[in-house]
Amino acid sequence: MVKCLLLLGIRCVCQNRRRGLGLKQSQAWNIALVGKLVWWIVVQPDRLWVQWVHHVYLKGSTWLQYNPPTDCCWYWRKICSVKDTINGGFVEGQWSLNSGLYTVKCCYQWLREKKELVDWHKAVWCPVAAPKHNFIAWLVAHQALKLKDKLVLFGVCADDLCCICQLFPETHHHLFTHCQFSQDLLQLVGNWLGTDISANGFLLTIARRRWSNTRKKITTAALIACLYFIWLQRNEARINHCLTRPSIIAGQVQEVIRSRFQCCKPVCISQKDVHWLSKVHLV
Ligand SMILES: [Zn+2]
Repeated sequence: MVKCLLLLGIRCVCQNRRRGLGLKQSQAWNIALVGKLVWWIVVQPDRLWVQWVHHVYLKGSTWLQYNPPTDCCWYWRKICSVKDTINGGFVEGQWSLNSGLYTVKCCYQWLREKKELVDWHKAVWCPVAAPKHNFIAWLVAHQALKLKDKLVLFGVCADDLCCICQLFPETHHHLFTHCQFSQDLLQLVGNWLGTDISANGFLLTIARRRWSNTRKKITTAALIACLYFIWLQRNEARINHCLTRPSIIAGQVQEVIRSRFQCCKPVCISQKDVHWLSKVHLV
């Protein structure tokens, strides 16, 4: 899994939960912290340290246009490099965001790359699903699992054929959408829930259905569990050359969803939901 994260890159992993894992990007955070010193020099000339900086280093120069001498000490060069990094955030000597007031949090958000928001984040982080299922679904959404299409490019795999069916090139699209094993599993789970579920279009079709939240969450969690079990079976087929029947996996999906739903059961359930839940044997 660590290799999958490396494949995605630290920038993607450190984005917020709408796209990434919400980890703090320490480099940007450090720049934002040092940026506070840059900010003091700009707006707080009465501070003793700022007066010392003016006397020893700036000597009448304009701070935002100042270049440090080559023989200055390490920490001063670092402060000046941070000043150059966040220079774009200053407008006429004021911080351009947050009503002109500099905060570490505000600068950190400004430094982070603004990526296009994705519409699958709610589904991928569905609270009814097990966390390990969420994580695999997140990797599937980013197409970051190390399937054979990538392994061949790395030169660690002789062929790119699907580990399960051995018929088509193993890509994310094939493994989770077109492979016969996946289709059979999704159909069995769909029959249990009384709907068609598919990994194609990644969970958006569920979000658009006119169902209650409870039904949407359970169906989404079931689909995410399917993705997880397909990934496990793919690894079983690759490493141990064995495959469990889709009907048995569908039973395991039901068991997982049943136990997860018992943990996250809402306090109030509508009559309509109770009817549906009893139909799928969850109450
Ligand atoms: Zn296949």
